[in-house]
Amino acid sequence: MVGTWLIWLAMSDPLQNPAALRPRKPDWIRVKAPMGKAFNDTRALMRRLNLATVCEEAACPNIGECWTKKHATVMILGDTCTRACAFCNVKTGMPRAVDLSEPQHVADAAAELGLEHIVVTSVDRDDLADGGASQFVKVIEALRRTTPTTTIEILTPDFRNKADAAIEAIVAARPDVYNHNLETVPRLYPTIRPGARYYASLRLLETVKRLDPTIFTKSGIMVGLGEERLEVHQVMDDMRSAGIDFLTMGQYLQPTPKHAKVIDFVPPKTFEAYAAIARAKGFLLVAATPLTRSSYHAGDDFAKLRDARNAELARKAPVPVA
Ligand code: SF4
Repeated sequence: MVGTWLIWLAMSDPLQNPAALRPRKPDWIRVKAPMGKAFNDTRALMRRLNLATVCEEAACPNIGECWTKKHATVMILGDTCTRACAFCNVKTGMPRAVDLSEPQHVADAAAELGLEHIVVTSVDRDDLADGGASQFVKVIEALRRTTPTTTIEILTPDFRNKADAAIEAIVAARPDVYNHNLETVPRLYPTIRPGARYYASLRLLETVKRLDPTIFTKSGIMVGLGEERLEVHQVMDDMRSAGIDFLTMGQYLQPTPKHAKVIDFVPPKTFEAYAAIARAKGFLLVAATPLTRSSYHAGDDFAKLRDARNAELARKAPVPVA
C-alpha cells in the first residue's frame, strides 16, 4: 500500500532539479497517486465530451482520490482564463468562442457518472459581456432537464464590472450552492489576486444571499501565503457579515516555480484551531484541513449543510404554547 502514496516533492540535487530549491512538503501533505480504472474512465469521459476540469488544469493534489470516486469538477467556458492570478495554474490568454454544446455535455457527464452532486466552475471571462453568467444558467438548466435529482453547486468568478443582471440570472436558475472564493486576506490581493477586489467578491456573495436566502453560500481561502492569524479571523467575520454559510480552508501549494511561493506549511493543529474559531463565529459548516479544496468532498458536505440548516431551523422554531 505504501507504494500507492506519493509525497509530492522529489528531493534531489538542486542543480539538477530546481524544484528541490523549494521548501520540502511536510508529511501531512500526502496524496494518493492518480491511477486505476475508475480514474482512467473519468478522464476518458471528460475527453470524449470535450470538457475541461479544474482538477487537471489547477493541478489539484486530490485528483487521484476524487477521480477514483468519479468526482470531477467541470470547468466551463474553456480552459483559458483572462486573468493571471499568482496562485493559479490555469493558463492565461485569449479564450476561444463559447462552446454551445458544453451545457448538455456537462449534463451528460453528470448522468454517466451517476453524480448525486456536481460542482461546476469556470475560468474568468472578462471578454464576455456577462462574464459567462448565461453559460452557467444554461448548464444549470441542462442538468435539471437531464439529471433532475443531482444537486448543483456552482463556483463562479467574481463577475467584476459586469451588470448585476448577470448574478441575478444565475440566482434565478436556483443552484443549490453558490460558491465564490475570496482566496486570501485583503492585504495580499494586489500580489495574489491582482485582477480582483476583496470587497467586490464579498458583495457578490452577499447579493446572492439577499436575492435568495435559500441558496447555500460558500467561500474559501488558502493559507500559507503569508497571511496573519488575525487577518484570517477578520476574513471569517467579513464572511459571516455577508451571510456566508460554508467556509473552506486549505494549504496553498505552489503549482510551478513561476507561481507565488509558499510562505509556510500550516500544520493540521492550526487548521483545527481555525475551524473551531470559524464554528464559533456561526458558519453552518466549516471544512479546514491542509488538503481541503473548494470542491473536495463537496457532495458529502452538501448533505451536512442541509442537516445543519434543518437543525438550526428546528432550534429557532417557536415552542408551541400548551
Ligand atoms: S478537490 Fe475538487 S478540484 Fe481537486 S480533484 Fe477533487 S474535485 Fe477536482
